[in-house]
Amino acid sequence: SPSHSSVIIVGAGVSGICAAKVLAENGVKDLLILEASDRIGGRIRKEKFRGLPAELGAGWIAGVGGRESNPVWELACKLGLRTCFSDYSNARYNIYDRSGKIIPSGIAADSYKRAVDSAIQSLRNQELGGDEPPSSASIPKTPIELAIDFILHDFEMAEVEPISTFVDFGEREFLVADERGFEYFLYKLAEDFLHTSEGKISDSRLQLNKVVREIHHLRSGVSVVTEDGYIYEADYLILSVSIGVLQSDLITFNPPLPRWKSEAIEKLDLIVYTKIFLKFPHKFWPSGPEKEFFLYAHDRRGYYTFWQDMENAYPDSNVLVVTLTNEESKRVEAQPDEETLKEAMEVLRDMFGPDIPDAIDILVPRWWNNRFQRCSYSNYPIVSNNNQLNHNIKAPVDRIYFSGEHTSEKFNGYVHGAYLAGIDTSKALLEDMRKEIMERKSESQTL
Ligand code: FAD
Repeated sequence: SPSHSSVIIVGAGVSGICAAKVLAENGVKDLLILEASDRIGGRIRKEKFRGLPAELGAGWIAGVGGRESNPVWELACKLGLRTCFSDYSNARYNIYDRSGKIIPSGIAADSYKRAVDSAIQSLRNQELGGDEPPSSASIPKTPIELAIDFILHDFEMAEVEPISTFVDFGEREFLVADERGFEYFLYKLAEDFLHTSEGKISDSRLQLNKVVREIHHLRSGVSVVTEDGYIYEADYLILSVSIGVLQSDLITFNPPLPRWKSEAIEKLDLIVYTKIFLKFPHKFWPSGPEKEFFLYAHDRRGYYTFWQDMENAYPDSNVLVVTLTNEESKRVEAQPDEETLKEAMEVLRDMFGPDIPDAIDILVPRWWNNRFQRCSYSNYPIVSNNNQLNHNIKAPVDRIYFSGEHTSEKFNGYVHGAYLAGIDTSKALLEDMRKEIMERKSESQTL
């Protein structure tokens, strides 16, 4: 007969592990975590790349040094995770054009200021409900304008609109550069409530390689069917899979989700963000604290624009990381890595001349084509009623409770968003469980 638990948690990323921990600490003993992949961590993922611990997913603890303390930063400090301060703002002064010349800083600063002003203006227009198209003067056209538009909109929106992460927790960002990986903090959280032996989780409450394909929900309980044909029953379920997975057809709901829920799920935008790692026999690019980030100005927006030298994080590693997003991410995911390596080398030769050595290795993560992710993180569209949208994304359906970074009201898209969302979802569930017990008690008293 199917196993029965009081709560099933689908997904062992940050939010699933945090949700389970809160339940365990509040006396829920028979919980069960079902994770599709062969590891915990989800979008926090370290892979060895030529001796370097490459963080394919989350890399930065964003929001440090402010009036409130970022809980993920606190944990990282407690565990002694090695981190490096990142100053992105220098990137705009290291813009290379296709002939290898660095754009003079005055011109770069002016372009940057113009781009920020025009983004603020267009945000105001949208908020006021205006639908006039932007004036042609404010549309980025030249390679420098396109490079600046890319970093502004894909990295530094904090200069344009207030972002809760930076307002609440502070404006600084730290790159995790630790051999144990960013995921170490999650193992430590899991260790608080799951049995481990020899540094590995060995607890039957965590089941790996369990791909949930069907969720049957009634007012009285839930049952799930996994790809390997098992059925698991529970009183409640917490669903912490990404918004990309929710938008895909990996999980079937029976009965289907109500319209208000499925429409909310469809409305969120998916961001794909790809960090490509390249290893070289030696360094040929300028190094130093103010040179850590540099940009390539091409006439195609987002074409190998944003580069990072890993020297600061890992001295003498001779590794560069180039970040692509959205359509460019999807494009390189679909092509062989040798093709991507060739493109990256052409770009580097534009910047640093024909004589530089070829990369000896490349690592191209595939978040879009991973059927357990289908995105890197969520983005709420600029619409006036995001409160309602967030409410509908979060709201339970029968006994299915929704969690994950995309359910975070203030910090979606971040590790701390997933962390706090896991805690919030479990607290809401515990409250409903208590109410149910009270109702049952009063019913039996009246009988
Ligand atoms: P996930 O980590 O996705 O966890 C969900 C889990 O569900 C996964 O383990 C998945 O395998 C599992 N799952 C999916 N489908 C099923 C199924 N059908 N059955 C069972 N299990 C299933 N955040 C930052 O704060 N700083 C950064 O610098 C940063 N950079 C990022 C860079 C990249 C490339 C990416 C991808 C993300 C980045 N993020 C960053 C975002 C951050 O990683 C996420 O917000 C956070 O890790 C999400 O956690 P989660 O628990 O909500 O989801």
